[in-house]
Amino acid sequence: VAAAVLLGSLTACGQEAKGGSRYKPDAGEGATIGLAMPTKSSERWIADGENMAKQFQKAGYQTDLQYGDDKVENQVAQLENMITKGRSLLVVAAIDGSALTDVLGRAHDAGIPVISYDRLILGTENVDYYASFDNERVGRLEAQYIVDKLKLGKPEDKSGDSYNIELFAGSPDDNNTKYFWNGAMKVLQPYFDSGRLTVRSKQTRMNQATTLRWDGGTAQKRMDDLISKNYGSAKVDAVLSPYDGISLGIISALKSAGYGSKSRPLPVITGQDAELASVKSIIRGEQTQTVFKDTRKLAAQTVAMGDAVLNDRKPEVNNTTGYHNGKKTVPAYLLDPVSIDKSNTDLLVDEGYFTAGQLT
Ligand code: BGC
Repeated sequence: VAAAVLLGSLTACGQEAKGGSRYKPDAGEGATIGLAMPTKSSERWIADGENMAKQFQKAGYQTDLQYGDDKVENQVAQLENMITKGRSLLVVAAIDGSALTDVLGRAHDAGIPVISYDRLILGTENVDYYASFDNERVGRLEAQYIVDKLKLGKPEDKSGDSYNIELFAGSPDDNNTKYFWNGAMKVLQPYFDSGRLTVRSKQTRMNQATTLRWDGGTAQKRMDDLISKNYGSAKVDAVLSPYDGISLGIISALKSAGYGSKSRPLPVITGQDAELASVKSIIRGEQTQTVFKDTRKLAAQTVAMGDAVLNDRKPEVNNTTGYHNGKKTVPAYLLDPVSIDKSNTDLLVDEGYFTAGQLT
C-alpha cells in the first residue's frame, strides 16, 4: 500500500511521466498552459496571446497568459512563476532569445516542455519545438517588393536608373532579426554590387541597422539622422523596414524632412505584421508594403503542437534543419508569410483578419 501511495504521489507531482517521457502526467484535461508573450505595445502580440488562449481553451486547457512589457527580467519572473505553479507546458515568445537558459533549465527539471513561439530561444537544449513563419522569406518578400516597385529588373542589367535605399533591421536580441535581414540581403546584394542601389549612409551591416526592441521612436531618430547627414538635395527612394512600428517611425522622420508632397513623394517603405495603423497607412499611400503573418494560424499550429506534446504524440513539423539555436536544431513548423500592398489589402478583410469598417 505504501508503495502504491508513493507511486501515486510521484505520478501526481510529475516525476513519473507518461510512457517514460519526461512530460507531466497531469497534462491532459484541465492542464494549464503558460503563455509568455513579449509586449502589449504591438498589436500582433496582443492578438497572438488572445488567439492562443482562446484556442487552447477550446481544446480543453486552461491558460495563464502573461506579457513581459519588453523587459527581460519580467519575462524571466513570469516563467519562474509558471514553473512554480506547475504549468504543464510553456509557450514562449522571447524578449531576449538568449536570456532564458537558466529559467528553462528549471522548467526542464520540473518536466515541463517548452515551445518556442515565433522567435527561436537560443543557447539551451530545453526547447522542444518551434512554431513560426518562414522568417527568411519575410525578408525576401520585403526586398523583392522594393526591387519590383523600383522596376529594377534583373541585377545584371546595369543600364537602368539607380536608386538610393536605407536599411533597417529589427532588435539585435531577437533571433528573427538576422533571418529577416539575410533574406532581404540575398535579394538586394546583387543590386548593390551592380550599382543600381546605393546606401548613401554606408550603413550596410546588420549591426549598424538594428533597432533595439523594435522601437518606432528609435527608428525615427535614426532615420532623422540618416537623412540629415547623408542626403542634402539627394532623395531617399526606398527604405527596407522589417516591422510596421519601425515603418511608421521612419515615415514620421521622412515627413519632418519634407517628404510626402508631389515634388518629393515618400519612398517605397516596407513593413511586417499588417498592423491596423500600417494597413491604413498603406491605403492612404504612405507606407507601401507590409508582410501579413496570420497570428490565428500560428496560434492554431502551436495549439496542435502543444496538444500533441502533452499527449505523447509527435507534433507535425515541416523544417528540421533550418533553426539551430546554438545547442540543438529545434524541429520547427513554419507558416507562409504573404506580401500586402495597396492592391491586395482586401485579402485581410476576406480572411477575416480585419473588418471592412476597420480599414476605412
Ligand atoms: C516578429 C515580427 C515582429 C517583431 C516585432 C519579430 O520577432 O517575428 O512579426 O514584427 O518581432 O514585434
